[in-house]
Amino acid sequence: MDLRYSESEQRFRSDLRAWLSEALLTLPPKPADDDWAGRRAFDTSWQRMLFDAGYAGIDWPTEYGGRGATPTEALIFLEETEAAGAPYVGVNFVGSLHAGPTIIADGTPEQKARYLEPILRGDEVWCQGFSEPGAGSDLASLQTRAVRDGDHYVVTGAKIWTSFAQVADFCELLVRTDPDAPKHRGISWLILPMDTPGIEVRPLRTIVGSSEFSEVFLTDVRVPVENRVGEENDGWRVAMITFSFERGTAFVGELAQTGRLLRGLVEVAKQVRRGEGSAWDDPGIRREIGHLAAEVDALWALTKRNITRAEQTGSPGLGVSVSKLAYSELRHRLGDLAIRILGRWGLSLDDVAGVPGGEQVRGWFYAMSVSIAAGTSQVQRNIVAERILGLPKEPS
Ligand SMILES: Cc1cc2nc3c(=O)[nH]c(=O)nc-3n(C[C@H](O)[C@H](O)[C@H](O)COP(=O)(O)OP(=O)(O)OC[C@H]3O[C@@H](n4cnc5c(N)ncnc54)[C@H](O)[C@@H]3O)c2cc1C
Repeated sequence: MDLRYSESEQRFRSDLRAWLSEALLTLPPKPADDDWAGRRAFDTSWQRMLFDAGYAGIDWPTEYGGRGATPTEALIFLEETEAAGAPYVGVNFVGSLHAGPTIIADGTPEQKARYLEPILRGDEVWCQGFSEPGAGSDLASLQTRAVRDGDHYVVTGAKIWTSFAQVADFCELLVRTDPDAPKHRGISWLILPMDTPGIEVRPLRTIVGSSEFSEVFLTDVRVPVENRVGEENDGWRVAMITFSFERGTAFVGELAQTGRLLRGLVEVAKQVRRGEGSAWDDPGIRREIGHLAAEVDALWALTKRNITRAEQTGSPGLGVSVSKLAYSELRHRLGDLAIRILGRWGLSLDDVAGVPGGEQVRGWFYAMSVSIAAGTSQVQRNIVAERILGLPKEPS
């Protein structure tokens, strides 16, 4: 790992900074959290701006329309977009950060030609239909059935916690194609067009008042066999590829955002009154914030390692479980500290008395979902223990 920036990397940074300073001026106001049509329009038009400027799919290979940036350039991209306050991927999360990369890794030439460019252009939005009411951590227990009927699968079942389902054009869907095989061996990974008859999407409301995810009911939904990624019954292996991107590189942008949130917390601490001074005058608070800043730096270095590995092997590998776990725990500690600093002002999702605390309170709520989404912290600990450290398997 080389931590110095080459001349071309520095040029990449200054070109990007110049582009961002103009592009961000043209952005419309951000839509409300629960205005899903508005959020899709906002996020996909930002994606289109990135595409037109040559920054979409920053680390995707150029042969699939990406920029083919080096891992260091990809990190510079995240640093600069975050520092400039540019929008994050939003509803493009699944498509650009893990469905697209899975298709690049394992799709047929026809699937690559059909699905990749529309993701990069922001023309098509994806969601993820993995979890079911009885299959979350134990995902391989999933029951949604796909029965072969000629050149189609007929899919019936129910998915839950499907982020962005209400605005998605496609879903990366895990189905059971062989109910008699051992549970990990009878699964297939399908591309489901969300306008197929037989799909019902019911949004779920979260604690912050928005419907980030939905239940998705599937009744006799016909999916062409050519929409399968990987072999029939080999979907668990494909899902592991998806997870390696979802748990690894997909969280990198969030880590950059966490640095900004932490800097925001310094401002909050300076404004919150404590006796004669502010919370920032308390050396204990400053020490805790310093610790968290050091952890963000350490995770950034670990991320560079994962990304370098992904570049060499095509997938970030198991080390991503360590990063995802450490990131989730960090977000919890940051949220808890923010609430302690804010005191009673932390009771509101809005800024109170001019103190910019609303973002911190939202961050605290968000931390609760980070340690569940993409595999809970307990499950990541099991993976680290069993598959990295070689400890005995938990009893089944
Ligand atoms: C914000 C958010 C977005 C999400 N988006 C999507 C999405 O787009 N698509 C999708 O398919 N899913 C999505 N999910 C679902 C997510 O993947 C599941 O919530 C997660 O896998 C946990 O499953 P579960 O909720 O069924 O909890 P359970 O698996 O029922 O777990 C309950 C508790 O038991 C613990 N536990 C379970 N098994 C073990 C074990 N073997 N050892 C130790 N502890 C264990 C868990 O850690 C947890 O604390 C999302 C979740 C969140 C929070």
